[in-house]
Amino acid sequence: MAAPRGRLQGKNAIITGAAGGIGLETTILFAREGASVLMADISEPALAAALTKVKSLVPDSARIETIKCDVSKESDVQAMVESQDSWGGTDVIFNNAGIMHADDADAVDTPDKIWDLTHNINVKGVWYGCKHAVLSLRRHKKTKGSIINTASVVALVGSATPQLAYTASKGAVLAMTRELAIVHAREGFRFNALCPAPLNTPLLQDWLGDDQAKRHRREVHFPTGRFGEAIEQANAVVFLASDEASFVNGTDFVVDGGMTKAYVTPE
Ligand code: NAD
Repeated sequence: MAAPRGRLQGKNAIITGAAGGIGLETTILFAREGASVLMADISEPALAAALTKVKSLVPDSARIETIKCDVSKESDVQAMVESQDSWGGTDVIFNNAGIMHADDADAVDTPDKIWDLTHNINVKGVWYGCKHAVLSLRRHKKTKGSIINTASVVALVGSATPQLAYTASKGAVLAMTRELAIVHAREGFRFNALCPAPLNTPLLQDWLGDDQAKRHRREVHFPTGRFGEAIEQANAVVFLASDEASFVNGTDFVVDGGMTKAYVTPE
């Protein structure tokens, strides 16, 4: 097994939505880079399966633990962050948990309860993570910290296949992250937003299923001609979490294969 390379050596990290997709791949890379990782997710069975996978892929010396957390509940988020007090306090939090609901639609057809559910998880969940990370960083008198919040390319470009609640929630993540980056800059706390393109993860792929027309509707807009992979997002998150990114603050960090820069794409 490869020895840790250490870009995150000595850092305590929390990753939400760690049982699947981007969060799981990021957990593996964080641990390989020397971080101690608290994996948080709403699904305990998924967390248990993810932990088994992670342990088989990272050095035995890596500290990896799990905690059940519904990020839309502040008491859960507070307990999650405070559970790292005994580790020496949180240095990095990746507020990544998010949902895209099948009943999310356009201005006319999006049900109120879907709007609220989406915003409670995608926006309030990120806010609670930021809030308790700041409190922890201050409690432990840290002079630097990295907070990474998962937004999406739909926070930057409109889509004619609407999921209005989701899109609005990701726009809020982007704006919130930018403002927090400025508010806390003098404390040494960096805030950056990750903007992934559509990916090969269950969140999107389960929803697309075998519908080739639905897939083609999207693939034609990708300059690379393919969906992104979770690991390609995770590599960016490692950079943002590390001290290599010490002067990177308040960015909309776009990892999209050029999608948001495309007018027409190659045939
Ligand atoms: P995923 O569905 O594979 O994983 C998301 C994880 O979040 C799951 O393990 C799920 O159990 C967990 N989760 C859901 N609700 C939660 C809650 N209330 N509290 C705690 N955990 C909860 O998704 P993914 O593709 O890895 O997405 C991760 C993030 O990336 C999300 O914020 C998503 O919106 C964003 N994103 C995804 C794509 C994509 O195409 N997959 C594109 C852009 C942005």
